Amino acid sequence: MVAEILAVGTELLMGQIVNTNAQYLTKRLNDVGVNVYYHSVVGDNPIRLKECLRLALSRSDVVITTGGLGPTKDDITKETVAEIMGMKLVRDEETFRNIRCFFERVNRKMLVNNIKQADIPEGCTIIPNKNGTAPGCLIEKDGKTIIMFPGPPKEMIPMFEETIYPYLEQKTGQIIGSRMLKVFGIGESEMEMKIMDLVEAQSNPTIAPYVNMGEIVIRVTARSKNYDEAMKMIDPVIERIKERLGSDLYAYSGETLEETVVQLLIGKGISISTAESCTGGMLASKLVNVPGVSDVFTNGFITYSNQSKIDVLGVNPDTIKTYGAVSKETAVEMVKGLVKKTSSRAGISITGIAGPDGGTPEKPVGSVYVAVMLDGEIDTMALKLNGDRERVRHMACLNAMNMLRKKILN
Ligand code: ATP
Repeated sequence: MVAEILAVGTELLMGQIVNTNAQYLTKRLNDVGVNVYYHSVVGDNPIRLKECLRLALSRSDVVITTGGLGPTKDDITKETVAEIMGMKLVRDEETFRNIRCFFERVNRKMLVNNIKQADIPEGCTIIPNKNGTAPGCLIEKDGKTIIMFPGPPKEMIPMFEETIYPYLEQKTGQIIGSRMLKVFGIGESEMEMKIMDLVEAQSNPTIAPYVNMGEIVIRVTARSKNYDEAMKMIDPVIERIKERLGSDLYAYSGETLEETVVQLLIGKGISISTAESCTGGMLASKLVNVPGVSDVFTNGFITYSNQSKIDVLGVNPDTIKTYGAVSKETAVEMVKGLVKKTSSRAGISITGIAGPDGGTPEKPVGSVYVAVMLDGEIDTMALKLNGDRERVRHMACLNAMNMLRKKILN
């Protein structure tokens, strides 16, 4: 079954709102085994909307519209769909009563315009809307299905979940289950080399690798008649990927690197503290985002200036003078001072040049040094990172966390 999502609203075309409805619907349609081949966006213009609807109906089995069901003059979706499908709009008494009750409940006066929302294409199935005034409609005609939702996500999502998801589940008689694996520490091409034969050989489950914010994500997806069955199909594929990627594979259900690291620290009872220069607290913030981290996280220092590295962490001024604040030697003294001060078992220090200024030919923007200490033993890493300030800081944090993760595992 092929579906297409048509978002209606001039606001979307003007960049005033983001089309999150299409994103949400696509994911859920995939979950239920419906292929989404097209997304389109059109303004509140009946001629162009008609054009889009005709095209969508010519190439898709199911057309889902969002937006344009409101009470105002520019809300034209229902009228236009009815015209295209050759259906009359008729007043639905139950919808009318629901709309009246809604206004009573929220203590607002029902306007004449709101009554138009009770007019629906004759013979359609109404999709109840408990969170707003506009009901949705489901039309099945000439082998095609049109589903209309109001624009606000807080209305559209419950309507989809409560009425349309079960409807589609019944129609397709199958579901799609997927697991999201995550990889850190190898590049995309190395990962491809290691698993491409698996990717090419598989059709159900499918293996789809992509890169997101410096991490490799591998989505393994199976179509089956129920979720448990899909998971059973996925498990052996994950095992094969695991054999190929080893400890570079860190998450099996979409967990973040910080979640993985914090769980590892909690599991092993290892306390941690951080000393950050160029990341300015980003590493501590990522760790603190994980619930339960208070069991292991003791201190996070932002030692941005040279003087604070000297005052707070006891870095030797001569080290900074000789090697620079952005150097392996400074990173090592930072982490030593940090662990001494906090008595934590693990410590991470980061110092680098996030840019856009401050680079030199010897140490360009993106040069970052990380030191990780665990039970008295120190590892260091010199990174040359690409991208803007935000990305350099983000990648420095991911690399630092991954270094600690590997060190604990080894
Ligand atoms: P209403 O009865 O609230 O007017 P409607 O069906 O007429 O609903 P629109 O007027 O098109 O919907 O949009 C109402 C609001 O819904 C927008 O201002 C926006 O906040 C949200 N919205 C609309 N379309 C989308 C979309 N595709 N993705 C995310 N949000 C959307």
